[in-house]
Parts: sequence; structure tokens; C-alpha cells
Amino acid sequence: MTEEGSYDTVIVRFGCEVGVKSSRTRIRYEKEVCRQIKRLLEAEGVDYKMEYVFGRVYVSSCDAVKVAKLATRVFGVSSSSPALKTSSEMNDIVQAALKVAEKTLKGKRTFAVRCKRTGRHPYTSMDVCRKVGGEILQFFNEDKLKVDLKNPEVTIKIEVRDDKAYVYIEEYNGPGGFPLGVQGKVVCLLSGGIDSPVACWLMMKRGAFITPVYFDSSPTFSDELSRIKAVDCAKALFNWTGKGGEMYVVPYEGVLSVIKREAPERYTCILCKRFMYMVAEKIADREKAEGIVTGEALGEQASQTLRNIRVLNEAVKRYPVHRPLLGFDKVETEEIARRIGTYSISTRKSSGCNAAPRHPILKAKLEYVLEIEKKIESEKMAEEALKKSQKIKI
Ligand code: ATP
Ligand code: MG
Repeated sequence: MTEEGSYDTVIVRFGCEVGVKSSRTRIRYEKEVCRQIKRLLEAEGVDYKMEYVFGRVYVSSCDAVKVAKLATRVFGVSSSSPALKTSSEMNDIVQAALKVAEKTLKGKRTFAVRCKRTGRHPYTSMDVCRKVGGEILQFFNEDKLKVDLKNPEVTIKIEVRDDKAYVYIEEYNGPGGFPLGVQGKVVCLLSGGIDSPVACWLMMKRGAFITPVYFDSSPTFSDELSRIKAVDCAKALFNWTGKGGEMYVVPYEGVLSVIKREAPERYTCILCKRFMYMVAEKIADREKAEGIVTGEALGEQASQTLRNIRVLNEAVKRYPVHRPLLGFDKVETEEIARRIGTYSISTRKSSGCNAAPRHPILKAKLEYVLEIEKKIESEKMAEEALKKSQKIKI
């Protein structure tokens, strides 16, 4: 059924990994998902009533299609379906199925009926499929409609749960994962590029709150548009939470000038990234975060060789650095970026970083890096950069 308003309820299913937790954790996670769906619906001003049962949420609303689409923006939701609700009486199921069929089977040649059942009923799931299928065939008597169980054009799905039943056609995919926040917080190095927003989102999907940090090297080494891209990416990410968030913007032009002036050109990127890590570590202390996240992918940039990643890691002592994209190809990252709404922001025109040398070092030497950092007093500069950073509301 494609007409808005034809359905009155939404079936929301939880991510499959939520379902394998111990029942205490599972209930806690499922209720958290419900809270986040509520927050999103309230932010959108939708009228609804929610009923949670172990393993499912049913949301009644006259705007079921909108609710179903919104629910797919909540972490911990695997899918949702706009549905027509009725009682578990066979006659009621038939009537509801006919209403749905009337709207969806017009002009179609093949269909199937599938039924899932929880609870005790005087019929089996197969009985439901046979009865509903037969009634539909009778209803469309004049048409050339046939049952095709292998490759139907339309599948009428029926979910019977105790004394209620739901008839639906479509299943919208949600992100899956775990509800946001159940894993605590991470500090994310967020550039306006394609990769880091995806890395952030993947961590959110697995239950981590994010505090994005952007290093602003404008106007000498990048431009204002790059900063706006980073802020807009953060906005797009927080859009997935139903509430705003905060991000840090660290002034970086001065530090990068020192690195450019005092260090061998080939070491610019390594020193630049290590500096970002150092500041991120201090922000993690402040924010009581559990780790640092970057959008690095093995070999994608000169600073992302195995050796250089090792040298980068040495800049952080108290937190793990998580790189959710380490094994991703660019096309895989781009596919997610499109899906989560950051691709069109990341690919906007901007100057990008113009501090990078033509031939950056591929196998940096840690001892040498430490020597340069001592000379330019990186630690002191990191303290100062943090003091000058701005925490902005998104
Ligand atoms: P991205 O697409 O995320 O910009 P990239 O492939 O262009 O990544 P780099 O520019 O080498 O790679 O950056 C590696 C990682 O360092 C980024 O994914 C991001 O986590 C972090 N990073 C880079 N530039 C910045 C910045 N200006 N502010 C905050 N973090 C940054
Ligand atoms: Mg980049």
C-alpha cells in the first residue's frame, strides 16, 4: 500500500545483535531504542502512541509511513513496517488483509501471503496464509491474479502476536547496531572529508556518543568553506540522534606554520596528525571519553601506511585510537557516506589542505619525530591550542 494514511501502526524491529543479549541487557537496550524513537517523533511533532513488548515496538499513528521512515534513523532498529492493525481473529485478519490487498494488488499478476505467529491461536500460520490467499483470489475474481510463492510481485505479510495481528507489505531498513550512548563516548577527529564522518557514524551505530573535533588551519592552509563542511558534517551526524550535540574547533594555523617552518617537509603530515592526536587526548580527558576515532584507512594516504600509523599511535598514551575504516576501500566508504547524508557535504568544493608536501614520508622514524617535537615544543603548543579551542553547539 503506498497511499499515506492507509496504515495505522508501525512495527519496529530491533537490531539482531540487541536480540542476542542477556534478557536484562536486552530489555535495557530495547527500552533505550524506544526512548530514542520517542525523542525523534517528538522533535518532528508527530502524534503517536507507543507499545513496547519484549522484542518489538508497535507505534500507532495516523502518519504511519512517516513514523516508519523516522524509526529507521534510530540506532538499534533493524527495520520498520507501516502496517494495518487488527485483532488475531481469523475474520479480522482476512478483512485487514483484503484492505491492504485492494490497495496493493491492483494491476499485479502474482502475490504470496506469509505469516509469522507468536502466542496461542486456534490456527497455524499456514492456515492463515491459505485462508487469506483464498479470500484475496476470490476478491480479485475478475482479474488474472495468481499465487506465486517463489517470485511474487507483492508479498502480503501478516504478523500475529497474541490477541493482535498486523498486515503489511514493506520493510524499511534501519541502521541496526546498538542504541546510541550504551557504549559511552568517543572523541572523533572530524575533517569535512568523506572518511571521518563515516568513521564517526559507524561508532555511533555501535552505541558510542561522539564529540567531534575539527582543526581549523584557515586562512593560510585551508579555507572557511572547509570548516563549514566539517560543521555541516557534524550536524548531519547529530541528525541521527534527534537532538543536538557539541563539537570542538581548534585553531591550527599557527601550529601548522611552526611545523612547516621548523620540520623537514616530508614529515609535515605525520607531525600534523600526531599533534591532532595529542590535542584529542586532552579533549578525551575533559569529556570523559573512552577513546579517539579517526577516518584513517590503511594505505589511503601517505600518513596511513602501517609504519606511519604506528608512529601516529605513539602520540597517544592513555586512550586507544579506533579506526573503523582501516580495512575499507574508498567505494565502500562512499556508499555509506551517501546513505548517511554526509557525501554531498563532503564533496562540496573547498580548498582542502595545502600544507601537504608532494612527497610525504612513508616510513617515518619515531625517534626523529620525537626529536622534532621536542624542539618545537609540541606538548606546550597542544596545551595552548586546547585553551584557544572553541566548543560550539550544533
Ligand atoms: P578524511 O576523508 O576524513 O578527511 P582523508 O582520507 O582525507 O580523511 P587525512 O586527511 O590524512 O585522510 O586524514 C586522516 C584522518 O585525520 C581523518 O580521517 C580525520 O579523522 C583526521 N583529520 C584530518 N584532517 C583533520 C582536520 N582538519 N580536523 C580534524 N581531523 C582531521
Ligand atoms: Mg581529508
